[in-house]
Amino acid sequence: MTNEERIELAELLFPNIKHDRAYYEEKYPERDLPEGAMVTRFGPSPTGFVHMGSLFGSFIDMTYARQTNGVFYLRIEDTDQKRTVENGVEGIFTDLDSFDICPDESTKVGGEYGPYIQSQRVDIYQTYVKDLIVQGKAYPCFMTEKELESIREEQEINKVRTGVYGIYAADRDLSIEEIKEKIANGDEYVIRLKSPGNPNNIIEFTDLIKGKMKFPESDEDFVLLKKDGVPTYHFAHAIDDHLMHTTHVIRADEWVSSIPKHVQLFNVLGFKLPNFCHHAPLTKKDEETGTIRKLSKRKDPEAAVSYYEEVGIPNDAVKLYLATILNSNFEEWYLENPDKSYQDFTFTFNKMAVGGTSFDLDKLTNISKTYFSRKSGEEVYEETLSWALKHDKEYAELLLANKEDMIKFLSIEKDGPRPRKDISKYSEVKEEFSYAIDSMFEEEDYSKFDGDKTYDTNLVLDYVNNYLDLDVDNEAWFNKVKEFAEANGYAASPKDYKKNPDDYKGHVGDICEAIRVMITGRLKSPDLFSIMKILGKDKILKRVELYNKKFN
Ligand code: GLU
Repeated sequence: MTNEERIELAELLFPNIKHDRAYYEEKYPERDLPEGAMVTRFGPSPTGFVHMGSLFGSFIDMTYARQTNGVFYLRIEDTDQKRTVENGVEGIFTDLDSFDICPDESTKVGGEYGPYIQSQRVDIYQTYVKDLIVQGKAYPCFMTEKELESIREEQEINKVRTGVYGIYAADRDLSIEEIKEKIANGDEYVIRLKSPGNPNNIIEFTDLIKGKMKFPESDEDFVLLKKDGVPTYHFAHAIDDHLMHTTHVIRADEWVSSIPKHVQLFNVLGFKLPNFCHHAPLTKKDEETGTIRKLSKRKDPEAAVSYYEEVGIPNDAVKLYLATILNSNFEEWYLENPDKSYQDFTFTFNKMAVGGTSFDLDKLTNISKTYFSRKSGEEVYEETLSWALKHDKEYAELLLANKEDMIKFLSIEKDGPRPRKDISKYSEVKEEFSYAIDSMFEEEDYSKFDGDKTYDTNLVLDYVNNYLDLDVDNEAWFNKVKEFAEANGYAASPKDYKKNPDDYKGHVGDICEAIRVMITGRLKSPDLFSIMKILGKDKILKRVELYNKKFN
């Protein structure tokens, strides 16, 4: 085709495209950012929700952009109608908002490089395709589904690669007359890239996470625009990441195999190649088969980001966990720096997992315990209250009515280098601190803690009435318990008891256990003396009597 014919063809195919490439290149100039600033993007399809794997992706995008004073933007990728659901965009914003993943630019907050939704960028894509047609680097292909099917069958029989390339690219060299005739005929067409690649050439490529890779060049005339004029993922990716000046394409590693196509496309379009960072999928051990598989929306409730809010795991704890799986050296740093936030850590691509990233709910729970342990009693109270107001109204009422004591209970064993680590979810505050609220305590069935074992109420009553002094320090209090133990035939320490078990009814620990069960309804609790001090003598006596009524 001559130059004139190509221009004629471009006009014939895109009569409504009036701008040229230069118009968009000027409209979206280089970003004015400090040296080293990363421009990252999250590109979800509007499926209505965010999968944990995607949340992880957006967390990576945001983290790197923030730590380099760059830009993190959200681009809705709605070129695939099959993946689009009604109100799908809204659902994505809701999920991201709930984790404070706040893009600097998006359909919601705007920005200079929009529109941030691909369906509104069709003119832009078509402008660049029109230009490729003029340059002879793309062409309309009229092959029908049937024809494509038949070449696939032929390729399978001949045991060669499937696809439209080389001799199989039947419409590559149609004349302008042939094309005009087909169009006049109403034949449908897609626009394909006229691939300049040769698979005998090997290209080298460096991924910032996966390292150096080698691929044969792509010679596939892959589709740029579909029949309806909407771009494929490949084409939209090249145009958008170029015009929006993405410096780091951070995406799931399912796209690695498309790299030869993307490298070629950027070259053909004359675009600078961004950095590519393909991150591993989140995986877990399948409970039934024991094999490692991808975290699945269908099988794993924890794959939905709404799960954490429902069960009461704080968003910040989830983010701490994401930071932990993002960089292998993060956790150690975090444990060594108890007063720092994850945002103070410098994340790097070379500490990211290359294979699968194991998503371990037990580990997340443990990190959440660390998160809670670093919060003051008052903070735990406030956060639990705001969670309960949404998810457990009845408990929220109780928290409001018992605020002062509740904060005191939640503050036990919070000082010192090893703060208490027992809560991983807001919902657990209710279970673990049931004794902190009288009405809940009274309803509790604490026989479940000790099977057949019952404790001697008279012994505890005697202690409370005659030995208990709450206005002393912990040591003096414990000395008194020991004194009481000895006066009643119990050893003052487990060690003494072990030496001569026949001489004693038990030891001081047994007495503490009896008190603990009677006043907290459980065998384990935070520091007993602190609990006793908050309850006060009257409540302690009431609780011992209640126990007596229930069990003796
Ligand atoms: N829309 C693509 C997806 O959902 C985004 C991939 C990318 O980040 O480039 O997989």
